[in-house]
Amino acid sequence: MNEDADDQVTELDLRSGHPIWERDALPFATPPLPPIGRLRTDVVIVGAGVTGAFAAERFTREGREVVILDRHLPRTASTAASTALLQWEIDAPMLELEARLGFEAAASIYRRSVGAVRAIAHLAADLGGTCDFAWRPSLFLAGDVLDPSDLREELRLRMRAGIEGEFLSAGELQSRFGFEREGALLHAGSAAAHPMNLTRMLLGAALRRGATLLSPALVTDYDCTSQGVSVRTEDGRQIDGEILVMANGYELPPFVPAKVHKITSTWAMATTPQAPAALWPEHALVWEASEPYVYMRVTAQGRIVFGGEDEDLRDAERRDALLDAKVRTLQGKLSELVPAADATVDAAWTGFFSETSDGLPLIGAVPGMPRCFAAFGYGGNGITFSAIAADMIARLAAGQPDPAQDWFAVDRD
Ligand SMILES: Cc1cc2nc3c(=O)[nH]c(=O)nc-3n(C[C@H](O)[C@H](O)[C@H](O)COP(=O)(O)OP(=O)(O)OC[C@H]3O[C@@H](n4cnc5c(N)ncnc54)[C@H](O)[C@@H]3O)c2cc1C
Repeated sequence: MNEDADDQVTELDLRSGHPIWERDALPFATPPLPPIGRLRTDVVIVGAGVTGAFAAERFTREGREVVILDRHLPRTASTAASTALLQWEIDAPMLELEARLGFEAAASIYRRSVGAVRAIAHLAADLGGTCDFAWRPSLFLAGDVLDPSDLREELRLRMRAGIEGEFLSAGELQSRFGFEREGALLHAGSAAAHPMNLTRMLLGAALRRGATLLSPALVTDYDCTSQGVSVRTEDGRQIDGEILVMANGYELPPFVPAKVHKITSTWAMATTPQAPAALWPEHALVWEASEPYVYMRVTAQGRIVFGGEDEDLRDAERRDALLDAKVRTLQGKLSELVPAADATVDAAWTGFFSETSDGLPLIGAVPGMPRCFAAFGYGGNGITFSAIAADMIARLAAGQPDPAQDWFAVDRD
């Protein structure tokens, strides 16, 4: 059981404000709920955000029967608030992972993350949905956590792991991208997408392959034994299956023993569409080696999405009350970083955010709950972790070991 039970809340006020994605999210018709009763399936998935959607796509691709349940409309919880930078760079620098887990583990985790962005690209190409997937380079700016010499060390490790990249000095960063910082790492292989439409694309594929989506349906009871799993909903449904995938997002049920996870608050804004000349080359994803950090990306319409200002705050009222002030701060930081940009705010939003103390996700078997698998891709690259979760859980459920199962174990200290 989590020792900090306050961070394990089963029904959270996850977000408020108006994420820019709601403006042009493609419609998603949730199928009508079947009559109350009992259903039997192979895979029960709780949560129809991007994580549940990756899992549903994966298991239906393997020919498994899937039932997905969500207490909200699909893709409208944390996934709608996401700024959807699809980064393989993890919140924990490789230097930190190497110091804690050794080089081979750090390299394996980073390479897995690189592979996950590639896998998302393949899905976007294969499934034919429109999710504004676009490859983007990423710029990791020097800051108070890693200075230019640390970034050079970080690059040395990444290159040793087979991940190519380059260090830009302050002068090179200014002349190539126009940003005034002491230096940066530049890598290829990250991407950006529309998070609601990405989820729609994945869920749509699962539904076409026969998955059942029950929404709204609040799961109140979980029963997992070596014979099978069963969940019950508030309105009296029962779904029996072979395995259970917990993709509840930040609403972590108390039986998941996550000691390393905590809830914070974060804020984001989107500008009006920019004149092309005001934007930086290749619309690189930008983030910084600072604590807390700000980050930015460009949408398909040429808007800058700018976020950060995270605070250790898990009171939704206080979080929401800070929205205007936080957005003014973000606006100021945007103007400082991109002086040519029009920092007019067209959309602003805030939400809870979950992170782990070691920067790694919680993915894998839930102890004491046979056949139950957690898919909690916490952290700044939660969507990349969600893609990894689908892959890992498919292997673990098939009885195959996964190289990351100890590093991502939900009961790690
Ligand atoms: C402001 C912000 C910016 C972010 N930026 C990025 C980014 O740039 N890149 C990135 O990779 N990640 C980012 N993230 C993180 C990323 O958005 C999340 O990791 C991801 O959206 C989580 O998806 P999910 O499906 O796990 O959770 P959700 O989208 O929250 O879905 C979980 C679903 O489970 C349902 N549920 C929970 N409990 C129950 C229950 N008992 N019964 C039925 N249903 C239940 C909920 O209703 C919900 O719909 C950001 C997050 C925020 C808030």
